[in-house]
Amino acid sequence: MLCVSAAQAGTLVASTHPLYLIAKAVTAGVEQPLLLLPPASSGHDINLRPSDRLLLKQSDFVIWFGRDYEAPLYDLLDHQRNAIALYDLKAFHRLPLRDIQGQPIPQSLDPHIWLDPNNAIGIAYAIATVRAKQFPQHAGQYIQNARNFGLKLQQVVNTEQSKTPRAYWAYHDAYHYLEKSLNLRFAGALTADPDLPPSIGQLIWLKQHRPHAGAVCLFAERQPNSALMAKLQPIDYYPIDEVMATSTDFIQGWQALAQRLKQCAQ
Ligand SMILES: [Zn+2]
Repeated sequence: MLCVSAAQAGTLVASTHPLYLIAKAVTAGVEQPLLLLPPASSGHDINLRPSDRLLLKQSDFVIWFGRDYEAPLYDLLDHQRNAIALYDLKAFHRLPLRDIQGQPIPQSLDPHIWLDPNNAIGIAYAIATVRAKQFPQHAGQYIQNARNFGLKLQQVVNTEQSKTPRAYWAYHDAYHYLEKSLNLRFAGALTADPDLPPSIGQLIWLKQHRPHAGAVCLFAERQPNSALMAKLQPIDYYPIDEVMATSTDFIQGWQALAQRLKQCAQ
């Protein structure tokens, strides 16, 4: 657990960008959190510099998702007393990962928990609770910020909910937590590991199991090469940014993501 006295006071570090955006909302008016990784870096591809390691050691509070998303941080943070892995908390709505053919993988955790608005609100309260304990003089502000964050996010979720069903392919399985509110149906992924290219076998499987005859929506973090795109035609490619790299505000980032997913029309 947390040990403030042993560390430098006053530095809250968030591992990846969406977590940083939530931390920013919770700490507004009190402090400025730091972001460990570059905004566009997802937990799937982490490269730490020596200065990053130092920052993790010297902060008084490091918040990260956990091993299922940010594996390279595990060795550094698992036994670090100033760090909290969100997956270790007995909280949050959790969904399993699906294999590339859409079947749930037993005992797995889809790591993209922040995309579920209720989870995002839970994360805000978790940060507020820890910080309020560390700095009781600001407790009221932290809790109030978390409450405001929850109310605003809920309002946006209510306006973005969709009844139009949409089947989609994903480059990797990443949007499970948005499926219910946006009425999306996962019809398969190109690859299980976002760093690995799809196999020929999977491309054939996708073609044989197209959810419908028209263009299938493909949500992807990066543009598949043209040879790959050609093999899957007809498709509509939608670039998606799971870490909200271009947003400076979590709620705005979530809304942009939801609107992008809803652009997929059939
Ligand atoms: Zn991902």
